[in-house]
Amino acid sequence: MDLNHAPHVEAFRAEARDWLAAHVPATPLPSLETREGFAAHREWEALLHSARWAVVSWPEEYGGRGVDIEHWLVFEEEYWAAGAPGRVSQNGINLLAPTLFDHATDEQRARVLPSMASGETIWAQAWSEPESGSDLASLKSRAVRTEGGWLLSGQKTWSSRAAFADRAFGIFRTDPDAPKPHQGLTYLMFDLHAPGVTVRPIGRLDGKPAFAELFLDEVFVPDADVIGEPGQGWRIAMSTTGNERGLTLRAPGRFLAAADRLVDLWRSHGDPADTALRDRVADAVVGARAYQLFTWANASRFASGETIGAESSLNKVFWSQYDIALHESALDLLGPDAELADGEWAEPWIFSLAGPIYAGTNEIQRDIIAERLLGLPKGRR
Ligand SMILES: Cc1cc2nc3c(=O)[nH]c(=O)nc-3n(C[C@H](O)[C@H](O)[C@H](O)COP(=O)(O)OP(=O)(O)OC[C@H]3O[C@@H](n4cnc5c(N)ncnc54)[C@H](O)[C@@H]3O)c2cc1C
Repeated sequence: MDLNHAPHVEAFRAEARDWLAAHVPATPLPSLETREGFAAHREWEALLHSARWAVVSWPEEYGGRGVDIEHWLVFEEEYWAAGAPGRVSQNGINLLAPTLFDHATDEQRARVLPSMASGETIWAQAWSEPESGSDLASLKSRAVRTEGGWLLSGQKTWSSRAAFADRAFGIFRTDPDAPKPHQGLTYLMFDLHAPGVTVRPIGRLDGKPAFAELFLDEVFVPDADVIGEPGQGWRIAMSTTGNERGLTLRAPGRFLAAADRLVDLWRSHGDPADTALRDRVADAVVGARAYQLFTWANASRFASGETIGAESSLNKVFWSQYDIALHESALDLLGPDAELADGEWAEPWIFSLAGPIYAGTNEIQRDIIAERLLGLPKGRR
């Protein structure tokens, strides 16, 4: 792949940069983990969408620009460099949408994608259960056949942003007699305001209701909201996890921008005699650049029709560890008051600590890397 972008890609970059410079809010929006911040971020999504920047790689009929992965990566670089707000619609756009493109019907895509792109409908991921995180296939929530659809019952937990979201997608057990736990599961979408749904917010360490647990009591879901064939939920879910761990959740633009900000912080706060900390800042810059190049290599593979499977676990372990290291360097630079006084670095640092847990824990990712990429024997489970 030629790493010099063609003139039309650079023109796209300039258009994105100009629009972002004119529209990114001058003062940061309140945290999207609060009701007020959620509403403000929803408005930002609508503004992005009005200029067709919300989902650049989607087909135009759904609100996108129909551009390829190269343009998307360039857009992400500009987005994060401009200091634009975090995306409150990320669960829908990064997880559900790729699943819909791969497995849904045309009717489902036409019904779901436009309002996802505009921020009118914000989606939550309802996979985890109190006893089913890493061992997701052991999930117990069930969907029972009824006339014209299914009745959902059970409990989901750790559902990010479900406290304020509109709809959710998840997997449910539809055949309790299936011979293996990952068989007999079905992937479906449901309304968080439907009769039978109770949404109970869970506070983070800082008290913000970033998550919710969901209690489902015979919640009706029409057949039209089943994605793929009933019983095929596991196979479909595994294509979602590839997206979650792979490129879409953590484009390198986010880290390139954060590494640049760290360098600025070193220039304003660094002690030239502290060569150990200076080296960590340099490592952050090198790490962001290495991740960018790795991503371009993957993009090149996509462009030639390949897919990435277990390699997405490499990505996940890398970005989650990198995020923590970068934020710890920033806090060490700022000194002991940083955790209390500085919202710019402290809040993302707290969030970075969760990176090795969500999207599949890093212990599980390392098992996948060992077994599927390195061909090592299966570990003891
Ligand atoms: C910030 C954040 C956001 C989240 N958002 C969502 C969301 O929106 N929707 C959703 O459905 N879920 C969400 N989750 C839940 C997340 O997916 C789970 O926490 C994760 O899959 C781990 O599951 P668990 O918490 O049950 O831990 P467990 O699976 O109980 O794991 C506990 C520990 O044991 C280790 N372990 C378990 N099994 C093995 C094994 N076989 N080999 C080696 N080690 C093992 C794990 O790696 C971990 O260190 C979120 C979590 C966080 C932290």
